Amino acid sequence: MDIFDQLKEKISEGAAMAAKKGSEVIESTKINIELVAKEQDLKKLYTQIGKMAYQAYKNDGQVDFELNEMFNKVDDLIDEIDALKAKLGKIKNVVKCPNCENISQKEDVYCSKCGYKLRDED
Ligand SMILES: [Zn+2]
Repeated sequence: MDIFDQLKEKISEGAAMAAKKGSEVIESTKINIELVAKEQDLKKLYTQIGKMAYQAYKNDGQVDFELNEMFNKVDDLIDEIDALKAKLGKIKNVVKCPNCENISQKEDVYCSKCGYKLRDED
């Protein structure tokens, strides 16, 4: 292989890597947008539940069935949000602390929040 071939190979390797990084950024941006939207939905839902709970209180503690439906929706949204966060974590080379759920860098040995040992030292 002559020097030009080697150079060409290096350049295409670099381009492939840059493309990969670029698509990671696009992917994580997409997930972030989805995540923010879902978190807003969840907030709205909590507000609605609060209102309904208050109405129930006003109504001598009578809770109608809609409230249970709301709770199910909250469960679904929390699952979806967790799944999105996990997806994002995979892309960004981060790990979630199993103890406190704080997000740490993959190279961190200990959790920066609670000090939990995330992996064995090199
Ligand atoms: Zn932790």
